[in-house]
Amino acid sequence: MLTLREKLADPTRFLVATELVSVRGSMAGVNAIKARDFANDLVACPEIDWISITDNAGGNPQLAPLVLGRPILYAGKEVVIHLTCKDLNRNGLESEAWMLNSEGFNNILAMTGDYPVAGNDGLARPVFDIDSIGLISLLQKMNLGLGGAETNGKRVQLEKTQFSIGAVTTNFKLREGEVIPQYQKLRKKVESGAQFIINQIGFDSRKISELRCYMDAHGMKETPLIGNVYLLSRRVTDLFHEGRIPGVVVSKALWELCRTQGESADRGKAFFLELAAKQVAIYRGLGFRGVYLGGVHSLPAIERILGIERSFAPDDWKQFAREIRFSQPGEFFYYSEDAATGLANPIEESPRPKTSSKHVTAVYQISKLAHTTMFAPGTAFARWGTKACAHSKNPMQGPAPLRALEEVSKAVLYRCKDCGDCSLPDIAYLCPESQCAKNQRNGPCGGTREGRCEVDGYGDCIWLRAYERLKHDGHEEKLLDHVPVVQNQGLRGTSAWANLWLGRDHNSKREAAKAETTTSIPELQKQ
Ligand code: SF4
Repeated sequence: MLTLREKLADPTRFLVATELVSVRGSMAGVNAIKARDFANDLVACPEIDWISITDNAGGNPQLAPLVLGRPILYAGKEVVIHLTCKDLNRNGLESEAWMLNSEGFNNILAMTGDYPVAGNDGLARPVFDIDSIGLISLLQKMNLGLGGAETNGKRVQLEKTQFSIGAVTTNFKLREGEVIPQYQKLRKKVESGAQFIINQIGFDSRKISELRCYMDAHGMKETPLIGNVYLLSRRVTDLFHEGRIPGVVVSKALWELCRTQGESADRGKAFFLELAAKQVAIYRGLGFRGVYLGGVHSLPAIERILGIERSFAPDDWKQFAREIRFSQPGEFFYYSEDAATGLANPIEESPRPKTSSKHVTAVYQISKLAHTTMFAPGTAFARWGTKACAHSKNPMQGPAPLRALEEVSKAVLYRCKDCGDCSLPDIAYLCPESQCAKNQRNGPCGGTREGRCEVDGYGDCIWLRAYERLKHDGHEEKLLDHVPVVQNQGLRGTSAWANLWLGRDHNSKREAAKAETTTSIPELQKQ
């Protein structure tokens, strides 16, 4: 039996995956029994290459995916376990990964996760200690052999895991400041260790082709890309259209079409199955490495979709791609449209405004000036601050007057939460602790809708705002140059200024690593 890694390594294979949504309750519960029956059918179906099991999908508490996955794995089917950062901190995630490794699960889909929407006796407190890139980096380090605890003065390297690490991406976004940061983050996910990519649910073939073109043109040609096909129904179309599922868009035009079809005698069933089959054909035609079927709850539905797709002629997908183009009015595209096919034209980027003055505030301009004159390495103020903090009574806090100035100024200007490991210079002087619901330090999550955070009360996403600020300065390409960042929670409540000057925060460590690389190059050249 081939593993998922082996299947992904064979470019001639077109893979079929199915999503199994976990349920609330134990394995003996009615819903779990239904899920197990479905899983048994999937195990027996040779056309299904792997089964993906969700982790508290939609931010709801559910049975741990490992429990549903164990009988599937032992029956010989490949399983991908979803692992998200919303309910576990980095230690919990590492612990979960060791458990998966020990139980024989070698495939993980690493995601930030949806913001919790439910919980026993009230809403659960979200964790988001790290994000998808932090998790991918952690799993990659485990694959390379994580440094363990010291024993008898020696650091013992832990055994290497063999995870196939998957990641999710989305480009079904409205605004330039959403689409481009998503592409930049995708590159960072692959650089951090993601070995295969699944795209978000979407119904626009031009955007789908654009993703393939972008990956081909930006060093990700060999990274297997799996297309998301969601079997719609009338009810689900309403949910998606109302924006009830973060990051999933059903445009007005598609919603109206689905409503019309939904009024037929079979409530649109045949139409929805054919739509899914056409999407499978489009992904195959565009060179995706397989499809990920969601919204399906029975094997006959899957067999029907795959059967319809088999009945198409080899070039039919081109016509389907023209039909299934449900973008949002005014949506941004990275590439121009190829007039002949209606798909992305990879040799021409779409025209876009040269600059942006949106979100460029006086605070931003002052912050830039303060950073270059006071905090950048080598400035007179930074040299003085380093000495003052080093010789203060408590070097974690620095001199009391300086600490008071830091606390007041940053609270007023940025609503600082005193995390001590400051990301302001990474995010165009926007604080991820106070202005991002998921504390995202490595780029946007996939949950924005028309540029706004999926969580009420947060307004425009900080990464959209950061992108527009950098675009104003002509530096938008550098938005994610700082990635990956994993925040040191041990610095919470200490002075971020002292931590920067005394080399304890992530920014100073990165600068030190850069300096070490630069100085070691001539040494290497001498040898
Ligand atoms: S120190 Fe932390 S909480 Fe304060 S502004 Fe910087 S990132 Fe935000």
